[in-house]
Amino acid sequence: MTLSFNPDTVALPQGHFIDGAFIPAKGRLPMHRPSDGLAYADCPVAGEDIVDQAVVSAKRALKDSGWSGLRPRERTRVLHRWADLIEEEAEALGRLEAVASTRPIAHLIEGDIAVTAEQIRFFAEFADKEGSDVVPTGEGSLGMIMTEPYGVVGAITPWNFPLSMAGWKLGPALAAGNAVVLKPSEMTPFSTIFLAELAIRAGLPAGLINIVLGDGSTTGKAITGHPDIGKISFTGSTGAGVAIMENVARNGIKPMTLELGGKSPQIVFADADIALTAEAVARGILSNAGQACVAGSRLIVAEAIAEQVVQAIAAHMRDVHPGSTWDEATQYSPIISERQIGRIDSIVNAAVDAGAECLHGGRRLDREGYFYAPTLLANISQASPAITEEIFGPVLTVQTFVEEEEALTLGDHPTYGLAAGVFTRDISRAIRVTRLLQAGTIWVNRYGRSRDHILPTGGYKSSGIGKDLGRDAYLANRKSKSVLIDL
Ligand code: NAD
Repeated sequence: MTLSFNPDTVALPQGHFIDGAFIPAKGRLPMHRPSDGLAYADCPVAGEDIVDQAVVSAKRALKDSGWSGLRPRERTRVLHRWADLIEEEAEALGRLEAVASTRPIAHLIEGDIAVTAEQIRFFAEFADKEGSDVVPTGEGSLGMIMTEPYGVVGAITPWNFPLSMAGWKLGPALAAGNAVVLKPSEMTPFSTIFLAELAIRAGLPAGLINIVLGDGSTTGKAITGHPDIGKISFTGSTGAGVAIMENVARNGIKPMTLELGGKSPQIVFADADIALTAEAVARGILSNAGQACVAGSRLIVAEAIAEQVVQAIAAHMRDVHPGSTWDEATQYSPIISERQIGRIDSIVNAAVDAGAECLHGGRRLDREGYFYAPTLLANISQASPAITEEIFGPVLTVQTFVEEEEALTLGDHPTYGLAAGVFTRDISRAIRVTRLLQAGTIWVNRYGRSRDHILPTGGYKSSGIGKDLGRDAYLANRKSKSVLIDL
């Protein structure tokens, strides 16, 4: 059996998905397939009226189903059934996502979709295990910290991992007893709609997940400004995170989880295992062609082994297999859009014009679609936009150091603090450096997430506020109330 498919045969869902049904809507934003550049659909844009309809539906569903007040195990049961259906429908979900996004079908089936089902199960299990606390107060009283859901959570997701990002938002919010109004990226909305349909098929009361389609400035703004949405859960760029904070502040105060951009260092000490390190560093920048928030885009390597490490990484870069996302053999992703490929190219060219040495790539690949060659830039100044800006492409900068302190100074980014990699055989150094690095996730002698969903993810500095995954993500979907009873 092959996973390869013909993208022209994939039937796309039409309209917004509210109250368990499709609300027909005319497409307004043209969408292009990254693998071949073909304009293949138009995304509708929900205005305030449609977003309000979704919120009203969510509130009504919460009231009618009593979702928040069910025996928690009932919520767990429905969410497990949903995860089963995600696994059963993996191929259909994969096709909807692969046709529009940068995720190759094989990666979706083995990775994103399997992980999404797993994470929904992970959060389902919190529903009847995390609860309120009785706390020590004076003898004449009973003190309690009660927790309860927010009601309607507004979620907004990016295009780079559409299904797993939706899973990060929906799993904990629903397990914790909320309803959700979710806006996927206007570039990759279709798999998220089918994900929501599967939840309703699994027995989730209609209206507890509503998917509204549209862009950030209209639909996203209507969500973040809606008075009946109790909490915002956002993943996307730091710029959009700033706009969301402003809009929320203008329309009333509400809690926000913001998972934002990154510019993560991979710090390699002279005693590191070179083959293991080169493989991990290469994967850290080549995965999804660098279009990952945690992409390890800055190699900071000890001068003594720099040449060997760089050569080994370049060998991995020569070995990529670009192809259409609907071809099972594809290992190397396209870039999401023509605009983004132009941005990557202009940052790389500006760096080279300013004196950087391009050791590999540095150009668009000569084939249809939006593909950019894996790129290595050396001799680069700390002030270069290739270092200061999140490029969101397969571009790895190389800087060298002699002393540990120098590595830490180079590693510390003025804006971002999402993740960092440390490669060394010296356990004391690994722990010392881990303590000093200002990032929300540190990987030692590896780079990238595992399937240990208990580890939360989130950024320091302008990489975000709050956490996805882990117990933190579940708790972030419930608010707490302190109760003191005089006896
Ligand atoms: P983006 O910020 O352009 O868009 C993300 C989502 O926000 C989209 O659905 C978009 O329509 C919406 N949006 C944009 N402006 C908005 C506004 N003013 N109000 C409300 N919604 C708005 O990001 P993108 O290009 O889709 O995704 C790439 C970015 O996401 C990168 O910066 C990447 O680092 C970040 N990201 C972060 C994480 C994380 O866990 N920290 C994970 C994945 C992606």
